[in-house]
Amino acid sequence: MCAMKREEAEALIQEVLEVYPEKARKDRAKHLAVSDPNVEQAKKCIVSNRKSVPGVMTIRGCAYAGSKGVVWGPIKDMVHISHGPVGCGQYSRAGRRNYYTGHTGINAFGTMNFTSDFQEKDIVFGGDKKLEKLIDEIQTLFPLHKGISIQSECPVGLIGDDIESVSKKKAKEMDKPVVPLRCEGFRGVSQSLGHHIANDAIRDWVLPNRDDDSSFESTPYDIALTGDYNIGGDAWASRILLEEMGLRVVAQWSGDGTISELELAPKAKVNLLHCYRSMNYLARHMEEKYGVPWMEYNFFGPTKIAESLRKIAALFDEKIQEGAERVIAKYTPQMNAIIEKYRPRLEGKKVMLYVGGLRPRHVVGAYEDLGMEVVGAGYEFAHNDDYDRTIKDLGEGTLLYDDVTGYELEEFVKRVRPDLVGSGIKEKYIFQKMGIPFRQMHSWDYSGPYHGYDGFAIFARDMDMTLNNPCWDKLQAPWKKAEAAAKAA
Ligand code: SF4
Repeated sequence: MCAMKREEAEALIQEVLEVYPEKARKDRAKHLAVSDPNVEQAKKCIVSNRKSVPGVMTIRGCAYAGSKGVVWGPIKDMVHISHGPVGCGQYSRAGRRNYYTGHTGINAFGTMNFTSDFQEKDIVFGGDKKLEKLIDEIQTLFPLHKGISIQSECPVGLIGDDIESVSKKKAKEMDKPVVPLRCEGFRGVSQSLGHHIANDAIRDWVLPNRDDDSSFESTPYDIALTGDYNIGGDAWASRILLEEMGLRVVAQWSGDGTISELELAPKAKVNLLHCYRSMNYLARHMEEKYGVPWMEYNFFGPTKIAESLRKIAALFDEKIQEGAERVIAKYTPQMNAIIEKYRPRLEGKKVMLYVGGLRPRHVVGAYEDLGMEVVGAGYEFAHNDDYDRTIKDLGEGTLLYDDVTGYELEEFVKRVRPDLVGSGIKEKYIFQKMGIPFRQMHSWDYSGPYHGYDGFAIFARDMDMTLNNPCWDKLQAPWKKAEAAAKAA
């Protein structure tokens, strides 16, 4: 079942494209498509990971956001320096809700903003000396930190500071890792390159640290849990299930993670990867260099959780396979009760999603568990391999939009009239003002976790609370109010 027929969806795309000048129209047409589950490779229908069209309102972030905000920021016992002007770190500080345990400012630093606070003279004369001074201050004020990462903002790359030599010098002096990241915001087309740069830095500056260390006592059930950033406690809700089935989590990347866990991951027997887009580079590297196989899993909604637990268990022996069945049996009655409660209130409702690089496909199963249907999906920074995976999960005729512009998303929503839109903070108030229920699907709208069985209970409650909230009927978009007043006059 789909809200629109293929021809209708195609006609809508053509209509939306109409307003653009010819060159922009041709370019944007490649990024808008109607899904077809029979197509093997997404590149046949949609183009992704390209530069945004200048002048349109892209919703993307920058490479610094991908490296500092996503991959490195959650490593809690390291200090992450936002190297450059103060704004980048300050405006992105603590926004992603990567929960962690520890004492902030003592042995954990996740929600703090460390910046070299570039001024004009630093741009003219270089910021290396200032960076050295900052690292010395950090060492004095926060002696329990376990290492430092230097996250370059745009000006650092433009003036060509040598952050690598500062890192080497300071690492030697402190006898702690100092990792330089060339993740200046202007690099690449989106935050996606920042993930890649961050992965490469872990590969080059962190993973080899324990190559010669044989003191680690391994077990046959050691796993690394990667690509979970513990938004609202997601990694905790996932880890509990893996441990209940008998596995030992030796590394959790990077939500509530430590540098020691980064170093230990190559010693795991299997690497379980949740966010493929942001960490597949390291998964491949660990497989090639250390022989650690990796597997993608999906812990959104009971159907996908059970599927994933069984797939994970199949990589281990009978003890773990029994453990997976035990976990599924334990939680199934609770999940059935949740579905029984919420499904009648959500059945048949349509959702449109526009989020990062993974969730629009990963949450499809959770919505389906509640009887809901995803009728539009798109990514800010996905690549072709993400769309390859996505088209298999979507129904025929679903709208696909890559790096959608503000205008396109608004037009699609106006025409499709979904019952719920799930996207980011920049989109939230536009759609709420239109009177359309909205969930912020990057930070779970200050809720969560949404992963695991515990997460599904919260996910179902939040969708119901948002969608069936009586406030939407009382809301009139400001422009509609003006129209109504004009008519009445
Ligand atoms: S694009 Fe550059 S200036 Fe803007 S947030 Fe990213 S690093 Fe900072």
